Amino acid sequence: VSYKSLTQGDLEKLREICPGERVLYGEEINEDYCRDELGEITRSPDVLIKPVQTEEVSSILNYAHREKIPVTVRGAGTGLCGGSVPLEGGILISLEEMNRILEIDTENLTATVEPGVILLDFQKLVEERALFYPPDPGEKTATLGGNVMTNAGGMRALRYGVTRDYVLGLEAVLPDGEIIKTGGKVVKNSSGYSLKDLLIGSEGTLAIVTEITLKLLPLPRRQLSLLVPFSDLNKAIEAVPSIIKQREIPAALEFMEREVILAAEEYLGRSFPHSSSPAYLLLSFYGNNTGELTEVYEEAAHTCLQAGAQDVLIASTPERQEALWSLRGAFLEALKGMSELDECDVVVPRDKIAHFISFASSLKGKYGLRILSFGHAGDGNLHIYLLKDSLPQNEWQEKRTKTLKALFAEAKRIRGQVSGEHGIGYAKKDFLPLSLGPKQIDLMRGIKRTFDPGYILNPGKIF
Ligand SMILES: Cc1cc2nc3c(=O)[nH]c(=O)nc-3n(C[C@H](O)[C@H](O)[C@H](O)COP(=O)(O)OP(=O)(O)OC[C@H]3O[C@@H](n4cnc5c(N)ncnc54)[C@H](O)[C@@H]3O)c2cc1C
Repeated sequence: VSYKSLTQGDLEKLREICPGERVLYGEEINEDYCRDELGEITRSPDVLIKPVQTEEVSSILNYAHREKIPVTVRGAGTGLCGGSVPLEGGILISLEEMNRILEIDTENLTATVEPGVILLDFQKLVEERALFYPPDPGEKTATLGGNVMTNAGGMRALRYGVTRDYVLGLEAVLPDGEIIKTGGKVVKNSSGYSLKDLLIGSEGTLAIVTEITLKLLPLPRRQLSLLVPFSDLNKAIEAVPSIIKQREIPAALEFMEREVILAAEEYLGRSFPHSSSPAYLLLSFYGNNTGELTEVYEEAAHTCLQAGAQDVLIASTPERQEALWSLRGAFLEALKGMSELDECDVVVPRDKIAHFISFASSLKGKYGLRILSFGHAGDGNLHIYLLKDSLPQNEWQEKRTKTLKALFAEAKRIRGQVSGEHGIGYAKKDFLPLSLGPKQIDLMRGIKRTFDPGYILNPGKIF
C-alpha cells in the first residue's frame, strides 16, 4: 500500500478541522508520541492532532480517507507491543483531550465516557459513589479507550472477567469518517453479529472509538488480601487449582518470584511485608459481610498450608493492602529499570500453568538469557520477561527471538494463545500465525478489508 506524503495544504486543512493549538507538526511533536511503553519501536508522526469531539475525529478520518493519509490512534501510550506507534508516519490522533465522563447512570448501573478518561480517575470516581468497575490492569494511567481496544485484563479477571465483559456500547468512527453506535445500555443483546465485540480488542485497526458505555457493579464493602510464601515456585503454582476450586473464587490470584520482588523494592525504595521466600502467591477476596469473608479466606489459607505454604500473611486494612498491590503494580517498571527486556504475555489453560513456567525456566540454560516471570496465576495469563542484561545487541536479538519462538510454540502445543491481554500490535505480529491457522488470519484480513478498504487505519499492526 502506498500513502500520500503530508503537504502544507493537508496541514492547513487539518488545522481548519481542529483549530487552536491542537494540530502539531514536526519539531512541535514531543518524542513521547513516537513510542509506547515497549519503547523500542519508534516512529514520529508527520502531524499530531488532539481532537475534543467525535465530529472532529470524523472529519479528520474522512479527509485522510479521501487523501490516502495513514492514521494511527493513541490513548495514553502505555501499550506493550507498539500498537499506537505510527509506523507509516502520517496522522497520529491522540485522544487525551476527549476525557470527559459523560454520565454515571445509577438506575441502569452504567457509565458513559469519552475514550481518553484515565482508568485510575474513573475507578476513583465510581468508587466514591459506592459503585465498582472491576477491570484492573496494572497500569492505571492507561485510558479506558486503550483498555477497550486491547481488551485489557488485569488482576481481577479471575473472578470478574476482562474489559470486554464490562463494555455495553460503543460509538466509533469508521475509517471513512462515518459514525456508528453499537450496543448500548441494554444488558443483553442478540441482534445480529456483535460489531461491538469485534471492535473490542481490535487495537485501532478497524475504527476509532469515541464514546464507551460501561457496566458497573455495586462496590463490595469489604476486601482482604493474603500474601503466601512458598519454598519454591512450583509448589506455589501447584496450590492454584485447589484454591480456585473453593466455594468462593478469589478476585485476584497472582504469583511472583523473589527476584522480581527485590527489584520492585529497590525501584520503589519500599519493602514488601515479606521477601525472604523464593516464591509467593498474592490473593484478594471481596465481599460484603465480614463473617463470610473470614470463612472464605480461612478456607484459602488452609488450602495453601495443605499445599506446602510456609506461612499465610493477612492484610486486612486498606493501607496494608495498598502497600502489597502497589508493589505488585510496580513489577514491570522495576524490571525495566534493571535491564532492556522483552515480554511474552501468553495465556495457557490453568492446569498447564506449572508446566509452562517450568518450561520457560528450562529455556534459561538453553538460550543463555535471564528469564523472570510473574502474572495472573488464577487465569493462566503469564508474563514471562526475557532480560538483555549485558548481552551485545546482535546476540540479544538472536537469543530472544529463539526463546520467544520456543515459548509460543509450546503455548500452542498446550492450546494456549500468543496474548492474554496486551495484544499483538507490531511487536508480536510475527508470532500470531503460530497460534492461529492461515484460515483464521484470512478471515481477520477480510474483516479489516471490509472496515478499512483503503488500509489507512493503524497500518502494519496485528498481521
Ligand atoms: C507497567 C504496566 C503494566 C501493565 N499492566 C497491564 C495489565 O495488567 N493488563 C493489561 O491488559 N495491560 C497492561 N498493560 C498494558 C497497557 O497498559 C494496556 O494495553 C492498556 O490497555 C493500553 O491503554 P493506552 O491508553 O495506553 O493505549 P495505547 O497504548 O495508547 O494504545 C493501545 C492500542 O489501542 C489503540 N487505541 C487506543 N485508544 C483507542 C481508541 N479510542 N479507538 C481505537 N483504538 C484505540 C491504539 O491504536 C493501540 O493499538 C500494562 C502496561 C504497563 C506499562
